[in-house]
Amino acid sequence: METLIIRHGCPVDPGITDERPRTVFIRNGRIDRILTEQEESAHDLPHGDGARVVEAAGMMLLPGLADAHVHFRDPGFTEKEDMETGAAAAAHGGFTSAVMMGNTNPHPDTPERVAAMADRAGRTGIRLYCCGNITMGMAGRELTDFEALKDAGVVLLSDDGLPIRDAGLMEKACIRAASLGLILSLHEEDPAFIEQAGINRGSVAGSKGLAGADREAEISMVRRDTAIAERTGAELTIQHISAAESVCLIRDAKRRGVKIHAEATPHHFTLTEEAVIRFGTNAKMNPPLRTEADRLEIIRGLQDGTIDMIATDHAPHTQAEKAVEFTKAPSGIIGLETALSLVWRELVLPGYLTVPQAVERMTRAYSVYGLPGGKIREGAPADLVLFAPDEQWTVSDETLYSRARNTPFLGTSLPGVVRLTVCGGRIVFENRKEE
Ligand SMILES: [Zn+2]
Repeated sequence: METLIIRHGCPVDPGITDERPRTVFIRNGRIDRILTEQEESAHDLPHGDGARVVEAAGMMLLPGLADAHVHFRDPGFTEKEDMETGAAAAAHGGFTSAVMMGNTNPHPDTPERVAAMADRAGRTGIRLYCCGNITMGMAGRELTDFEALKDAGVVLLSDDGLPIRDAGLMEKACIRAASLGLILSLHEEDPAFIEQAGINRGSVAGSKGLAGADREAEISMVRRDTAIAERTGAELTIQHISAAESVCLIRDAKRRGVKIHAEATPHHFTLTEEAVIRFGTNAKMNPPLRTEADRLEIIRGLQDGTIDMIATDHAPHTQAEKAVEFTKAPSGIIGLETALSLVWRELVLPGYLTVPQAVERMTRAYSVYGLPGGKIREGAPADLVLFAPDEQWTVSDETLYSRARNTPFLGTSLPGVVRLTVCGGRIVFENRKEE
């Protein structure tokens, strides 16, 4: 494998406390040496024969980001995205690890299906992980064989897209998951409170003559499941928080010692329900965008660690599927390629999060799910991102790598350009030109 040298970037890692540039030497897929400029000249290290040298002065060197929540639609819906295009989008966004949600066809509800997916995922260049389903066919009736799925390599279990409506079944799932040390990742929306999915019940929905999805759909499920987690000792992740009350419930649960994690998507901390007026079906997602007060509470949750993971819920759909009237369009938007820029614009530049905090929220999935990566240390896997925070790029047909285009940020100029993404020592994305 080629030797790669990234010269004079500024690493962002809790183990590196000063801001001096470093040169990172990468060999055999791992970080071999990390040297300051003084150490580099003192050692007079040969830059290697045939080594690729990347100049990184003025740029930040981040650990490869991890997304605990993506939809690559593979197998079953590859007209929207597949593992290869999804992985390319991830690498463009600075992600070297991602967990693929299981609303595919077939579902990853048996070890054989998980093994088939994992085999293909292993050939994409980045680290893709499978989640297994909590219930067979995500039908909410019969639990899958958690132990067999764990042995097949799933890193978490989820019926993402659907809640576990039966509280008794949820309790059984929690007891079983706790005994195996598996985390259940939950989409919390009770359909009893939803008349029209993908739009918040409120003034914007009202102006369109729609009843929308009431915030209670999420709040009631979060309340129920934090209580079940507390009773059973299970470890849970609450996905894509949309309502302020959910943030407060999780904050309180964490204070009581409940083992709970929470995700926020970039769109839920960037946009409100007003976006539906401007972007139509490209602002339709589950759970829906809500109000400014919700958005600000999500940011507070990210600040105090109540929400410990930023996850994109990258949800590709074809243009034809989204080019229909609002009520008929599928929910979801793509997010891998815009996530880091939105974190920069919405959280770092306004001062809500420091750079290390932002990177921590975008790499927290490593420690939550026990995945390799997330550290810029000698001996660690060489999963790295070279990020130019002062440059801009425009989200467009030409700049996106996803097969899909369903994003409200099309045509938007965003701060922060990913210049290079390295996974396991190999360059998986490189951008040498201005975008
Ligand atoms: Zn999802």
